[in-house]
Amino acid sequence: MSGDELIATPKRTQDLIRKHGLTLKKSLGQNFLIDQNTLQKIVGAAELDASKGALEIGPGIGALTQHLAVRAGKVVAVEIDQRLIPILQETLEPYPNATVVHGDVLETDLAKLFAENFQGVSRVSVVANLPYYVTTPIIMKLLEDKLPLENIVVMIQKEVAERMAARPGKKDYGSLSIAVQYYCEPELVAVVPHTVFIPQPNVDSAVIKLKVRDRPPVEVADEAFFFEVVQAAFTQRRKTIYNNLGSRFFTKETKTELEKLLQQLDIDPSRRGETLSIEEYARLSGALRQFLG
Ligand code: SAM
Repeated sequence: MSGDELIATPKRTQDLIRKHGLTLKKSLGQNFLIDQNTLQKIVGAAELDASKGALEIGPGIGALTQHLAVRAGKVVAVEIDQRLIPILQETLEPYPNATVVHGDVLETDLAKLFAENFQGVSRVSVVANLPYYVTTPIIMKLLEDKLPLENIVVMIQKEVAERMAARPGKKDYGSLSIAVQYYCEPELVAVVPHTVFIPQPNVDSAVIKLKVRDRPPVEVADEAFFFEVVQAAFTQRRKTIYNNLGSRFFTKETKTELEKLLQQLDIDPSRRGETLSIEEYARLSGALRQFLG
């Protein structure tokens, strides 16, 4: 990126904040990146090139947007904070392929935004340093909206990244792991120190890459019911699936039917939700759906 004035240096970030009299809002998760090495890792993991597009959520003052605009053919960045829009107009002025949209990503019609902005682009990835207070709702919206995405590469809280990537039997494995792994193949790219942000967050951070699958790894007839079963199995982590599913879907009188059903599926009723694989949840939700009508 020689020749371009870098945005994400400690000095330029401080200068821009001072010049615009900006007070960063903790409530909007405003922790800005000031480290080129970390930015290169994020952008590198996204596999961008001039034929591809990038959707950024929360561009801040443009630290990551600048790197995306250099690599990708088209960048669209959605920022909730109106105060940052004039700053972005200034910092991104040299990048005509970057468009800033003012709005809350959770309220944005992303299918429409894609149709309006990414025509002629071969693949689109989401690349972002996410506001930590809404990480999970944002990721779930991206996945459930079934957008035609290639990768989702995001900086998030380390603990949430570990939950997304956790395998069955691990203590971090839960309904978030299953939801993410149903749609994507997760890979932990890097654990990041506090010192790469202004101001420094008080939680550990990590970059995670979610490669979006062409199709889920299991066949599920009713996705909503599949996720309902998964949620139910983790209602009380210390309880067995027999107890958790029993309280959710059966009565005292019919609960023995659940025991039979689990045995037929070769799933020990005394197991806990955190030990079941995604394939086992698929079989279980299919059989339960048939049983319950
Ligand atoms: N990308 C910049 C960087 O790396 O320096 C800023 C990242 S900062 C962690 C998160 C950004 O997301 C902030 O600019 C914040 O205003 C913005 N933001 C917070 N909630 C948002 C939402 N619901 N929709 C869009 N942007 C949001």
